[in-house]
Amino acid sequence: MTTRITHWIDGRPMEGTSGRTAPVHDPATGRQTGEVDLASRQEVDVAVASAAEAARAWGAASLSQRTAVLFAFREALHQRADELAAIITAEHGKVLGDAAGEIARGLENVEFATGIPELLKGGYSQQASTGVDVYSIRQPLGVVAGITPFNFPVMVPLWMCANAIATGNAFILKPSEKDPSAALFLAQLWKDAGLPDGVFTVLHGDKEAVDAILEHPGIAAVSFVGSTPVARYVYEQGTSQGKRVQALGGAKNHALVLPDADIDMAADAVVSAAYGAAGERCMALSVAVAVGDVADALVDAVAVRLPKLKVAAGCEADTDMGPLITREHRDRVAGYIGAGAQAGATVVVDGREADVPSEGYFLGTTLLDHVTPEMTVYTDEIFGPVLSVVRVETFEDGLELINANPYANGTAIFTRDGGAARRFQNEVQVGMVGVNVPIPVPVAYYSFGGWKDSLFGDTHMYGPEGVSFFTRGKVVTSRWPDPATSSVDLGFPRTR
Ligand code: NAD
Repeated sequence: MTTRITHWIDGRPMEGTSGRTAPVHDPATGRQTGEVDLASRQEVDVAVASAAEAARAWGAASLSQRTAVLFAFREALHQRADELAAIITAEHGKVLGDAAGEIARGLENVEFATGIPELLKGGYSQQASTGVDVYSIRQPLGVVAGITPFNFPVMVPLWMCANAIATGNAFILKPSEKDPSAALFLAQLWKDAGLPDGVFTVLHGDKEAVDAILEHPGIAAVSFVGSTPVARYVYEQGTSQGKRVQALGGAKNHALVLPDADIDMAADAVVSAAYGAAGERCMALSVAVAVGDVADALVDAVAVRLPKLKVAAGCEADTDMGPLITREHRDRVAGYIGAGAQAGATVVVDGREADVPSEGYFLGTTLLDHVTPEMTVYTDEIFGPVLSVVRVETFEDGLELINANPYANGTAIFTRDGGAARRFQNEVQVGMVGVNVPIPVPVAYYSFGGWKDSLFGDTHMYGPEGVSFFTRGKVVTSRWPDPATSSVDLGFPRTR
């Protein structure tokens, strides 16, 4: 039996009227478990009208009313994290520990947003001119939308909606149609937390819904996370319609491993960052750049770790890596392994030959050595459990390679040399940098975002830049007559 996955409009589930739906699968079995409604332009209109009505009252609600809801939402999310993790695993496939991890990271964004009274404080300049004071305030935009990818069905929506709602906007979420159920669970939690109906909306859909959002005059801003071609499209279309847009794209994250690195530490980090969540993370490491004679030791250290990883359904205890999101994606990733081998890479561990469950969209871990920059395994974002090792002679060669890559989301260096690490963090052309850490994801009170083809727009996601993205600044210049010179009887002496 499959579940009907509806929209959430006006504070309640609402069945779609477009007549279009998409199947939802459990990637661990390959079986269809749900049928999600896909919104038409008319349904987008209905959702925006509801959100606009709600935004008027919510934008005027006091800061203490808004923070009360955020604190309650934080508690609800915390208490029901296990149920939500199970929903993520059932549709995404990642292991339960990873699902719990993404909820924990998302929670940090909610906790950050509970501090909104402090974050929205403006500046005040008394006596900017004689008798004139100047001060700044930040106001909500109205109705804003978030369009999110399949790989973090809870964390990425929370990157956006916590700040958007805290700053007084109504938020419309268009989640990935591949794992849509977690969005509805979030909607119920917001309602339970006391959020007024219409402030959080879930509109499922595909390109038709995205285009309607990008063109809708009632939506002021769009926050997007997904692949680079779609991020570029969303940015160009949205800004051409006069909207504020931040669009985070794909990644090809490199780890630079220097000859003096602690090999065990580097290998542990590389294995967890390359193969965790089956490589379907925007901060996954997909290239290890081995400098000088460290390469053989690094390849050996990674290779001995891979057979120890248990590849199975994400809901089974002790599983290290679950399936990929769809059959097509699994086959595409497997195709890259063949292409790499044909182009001359050495297949040290071949995920296609791994002993993995026969049902579902499983693929084992792959390690490719002697990869060179013109191979497709290097140029393309694979988004699967494949790690490529590129061998270079020097630190400079490695830095040059990373800086020449069009993607620039995250990178990491492994070394015991503080001077080399410092030079790397200064000179690398990448938005998020790790030093001896596997995945340099910033915490919620910094902002998240790459450079170059990994981000279109001027603001990074969440943190202080998220607050700024979802608000407009206003500066007030005021002069009040001095009561001592007023002609109106104010009921107190006119002398000072
Ligand atoms: P995707 O680009 O296919 O989809 C993202 C969203 O866009 C979904 O909601 C989808 O319905 C919609 N969409 C898809 N095709 C569209 C089209 N042609 N026109 C309009 N809308 C469209 O991405 P995905 O496969 O869901 O997610 C994986 C990608 O997201 C990877 O490239 C990954 O690197 C990236 N990602 C980036 C970050 C980051 O912070 N930079 C974070 C997570 C994921």
